[in-house]
Amino acid sequence: MDLGIKGKKALVCAASKGLGRGCAEALAEAGVDLVINARGAEALEETAAYLRATYGVEVTAVAADITSDAGRAAVLAAAGDVDILVTNAGGPPPGLWSDWSRDDFIKALDGNMLTPVALMQATLPGMIAKGWGRVVNITSGSVKAPIPQLGLSNTARAGLTGFVAGTARQVAEHGVTINNLLPGIHATDRADQLDDGVAKAQGIDRAAATKQRQATIPARRYGTSAEFGAACAFLCSNKAGFIVGQNLLLDGGAVNSTL
Ligand code: NAP
Repeated sequence: MDLGIKGKKALVCAASKGLGRGCAEALAEAGVDLVINARGAEALEETAAYLRATYGVEVTAVAADITSDAGRAAVLAAAGDVDILVTNAGGPPPGLWSDWSRDDFIKALDGNMLTPVALMQATLPGMIAKGWGRVVNITSGSVKAPIPQLGLSNTARAGLTGFVAGTARQVAEHGVTINNLLPGIHATDRADQLDDGVAKAQGIDRAAATKQRQATIPARRYGTSAEFGAACAFLCSNKAGFIVGQNLLLDGGAVNSTL
């Protein structure tokens, strides 16, 4: 399918690895020029070189912490006017509801709620002026079904979801769509870390922890970054202009609900 976005420009945050990289690659495959970001320069430059060589698109890499004011300013300055924004950042650490301090909550809110909000505030005016734009926020399945040990994530992402629900309906008349992608477990470094947490808590090895977590998913496997990226590219495509303010769960059926 021709996604109809060849030659457009996208900013994909936190994209040297994992789900962000999957989104960047699927957009590159559709002919979209990219600005990609992550903190670590080495993996980021490797990803940028791979995308340029494989898909022949322009890729600008900006090594910066997207959750900091200075990092965001550097990324936005390099990106300029973008047609497509994919927001992403690392997730907060697991823990227990009684242990988190105000600072822990502020950090989680900064990373997983206020950072995407600031990125949208910076890029939506340009999209509105052009009469076309796409925003996809990578959130989490925890928005639909809480993951108890990830209370910081549950909290911050619920806030972002509320912001998107209203804002998506304010910008839609300008040809700009905002939607959220909600990953269930995908085979990335983040999933490895969470598997390690389960392994440690239960005194088992990581392979056993992975198997245990896979058994909770009707598809009986973790998702891939490529599958995730394909869904992202579709939401960013010219075909998806009537999909507004939705929360699409990509979880192999793990959340057990009818609607
Ligand atoms: P990942 O494999 O650990 O990759 C994270 C990517 O983000 C890396 O490129 C990392 O590079 C970059 N990054 C992290 N913090 C950053 C920051 N502050 N500024 C800029 N770049 C940053 O993670 P993932 O699995 O793709 O997860 C992406 C998001 O989806 C996370 O918020 C995660 O909580 C959420 N999620 C993931 C899953 C899953 O199963 N994978 C499930 C639900 C939700 P650097 O470290 O070099 O910055």
